[in-house]
Amino acid sequence: MQGMDTKSDNPWKDTPEISARIVTAIGRIASVMRSGMWEFATAENLNPAQAEILQLLQSRSQGVRLSWLAAQLSISAASASDSVSALVSKGLLYKARAEDDGRATALFLTEEGAAMAARIGGALGFAEDAAAALPVARQTELLSGLFKLIAQLQKTDRFPEMRACLSCQFFEPNRHPGKSAPHHCAMLNVPLSVALLRLDCPEQLPADPATRQRNWKVFA
Ligand code: SF4
Repeated sequence: MQGMDTKSDNPWKDTPEISARIVTAIGRIASVMRSGMWEFATAENLNPAQAEILQLLQSRSQGVRLSWLAAQLSISAASASDSVSALVSKGLLYKARAEDDGRATALFLTEEGAAMAARIGGALGFAEDAAAALPVARQTELLSGLFKLIAQLQKTDRFPEMRACLSCQFFEPNRHPGKSAPHHCAMLNVPLSVALLRLDCPEQLPADPATRQRNWKVFA
């Protein structure tokens, strides 16, 4: 009937907003990666949280605190503590004095733990291969879009701390305006393009909260 809002008038009217589909797509990719991790972890007799802990410790030879691990995994300190105890009893982690505070305890990978962490990285190689199959310009565009999304999420305080350039005291935004690498890393003393921005840099030193907020805001 004329004027009636039927499906044939507007076959796309039930399609969710682009923003909702972005979130769905990211969620789907995350669950494919989680199940890749799950498969690997089960075969190695680990649970996924234990596998994630090993990965987080892989490039942190100075050790990490239990409370930091819990925040990174968005789980309670009690659950993080259970996973850590299981990893210690498997000989993959050990506890020792924290380097920056002799009274505190930090967690470190044993040699076996480091070897297992390296194997876990390989288990998610299929997702990295898929991203690598995209043209380089598309990869850069996607990375830049994801940084911008993370920048928006940072405003909500729901994102755990990352060793990212945008949160680093060596990061100098727009020091070379108009250039293809407009930012600068004062630690390496080199210009930084968006394509080279790091999400997890071992050299990172956290900037003060106001600077961090300003950098992410400039980028959002
Ligand atoms: S490359 Fe590392 S040290 Fe340099 S700005 Fe980025 S996070 Fe900081």
